[in-house]
Amino acid sequence: MVIVMKPGAPEESINEVIAYVEAAGLDTHVSKGTETTIIGLIGDKSKLKYENLQIFDGVDKLVPVTEGYKLANKKFHPEPSTIPVGNTSIGPGHLTIMAGPCAVENEEQMMAVARAVKAAGANILRGGAYKPRTSPYSFQGLGEEGLKYMKEASEETGLATISEVISLEAVESAVKYVDMLQIGARNMQNFYLLKEVGRCGKPVLLKRGLASTIDEWLNAAEYIISEGNPDVVLCERGIRTYETATRNTLDISAVPVLKERTHLPVIVDPSHATGVRSYVAPLAKAAIACGADGLMIEVHNNPAKALSDGPQSLTFKQFEDLIAVLRPYAELEKREMH
Ligand code: PEP
Ligand code: MN
Repeated sequence: MVIVMKPGAPEESINEVIAYVEAAGLDTHVSKGTETTIIGLIGDKSKLKYENLQIFDGVDKLVPVTEGYKLANKKFHPEPSTIPVGNTSIGPGHLTIMAGPCAVENEEQMMAVARAVKAAGANILRGGAYKPRTSPYSFQGLGEEGLKYMKEASEETGLATISEVISLEAVESAVKYVDMLQIGARNMQNFYLLKEVGRCGKPVLLKRGLASTIDEWLNAAEYIISEGNPDVVLCERGIRTYETATRNTLDISAVPVLKERTHLPVIVDPSHATGVRSYVAPLAKAAIACGADGLMIEVHNNPAKALSDGPQSLTFKQFEDLIAVLRPYAELEKREMH
């Protein structure tokens, strides 16, 4: 349940309502918009006499929240959120470009990719140090050593950084070296890990599970936020369907659906969604047109030799061209790029 206050309701009336609700043993979550304040109720609502709420001065209406997720719910927080990440932020008015290799392979590679994506206009550097590979015989990542290269690349270029975590050990290590932690598709419902990143003190990019519904995804976000970390960004990276022409099927409709249901920013990853380099640009354009707050693009110094995801990785030149192509689309959607 949320209590919507009348536009311009004075602080006094807001505090009266909060005090009444809290006296009944419930917690409140207050969201102050430019005009309207919304008070979200968390806890056992049977303790509350709703009829009494209606008579408080300043209360406009009571809106039931039937979804399992509350803190991620737009009803609780109608204004879109802006999430700080290192020296940048993700949210309205910006088009965030996260770019980098699938995996951190060595120091030279990381530095070269960081310089190239920075020069082309990216603002967050990606790179996997802990790789959740489908086969146990595939490259598993450099671990903490890889995170050190990420930090070095960030110090030289000024780029904020993101890297995936797959275990408690990886979380402990990542918080020391990168600005944002990624929960990959394969761990979207690893509730233990979600709670860990909910307590880690860094923003989190939560990728959609391979076969997860939007409702399950938002409930996964709720796990993180309910542990005290409000800085969650969602990433649509394609879902499993019967189609085999692409690695996954980009659920582009998830973007407007999410915009209607949550205040959390949304990033689209056309690289993992398609698995094919030539499909990255058209879907990146579609993502911007649908209201995405940013893109995640895999870029490699030598895709043919990449230790993972070479076929979907762009060369430096292809990435530079892509950014140039995307600029007018971002402008049309009133989103600034770096
Ligand atoms: C990745 O971003 O490196 C990755 C493994 O992506 P996903 O979890 O979406 O498969
Ligand atoms: Mn990858």
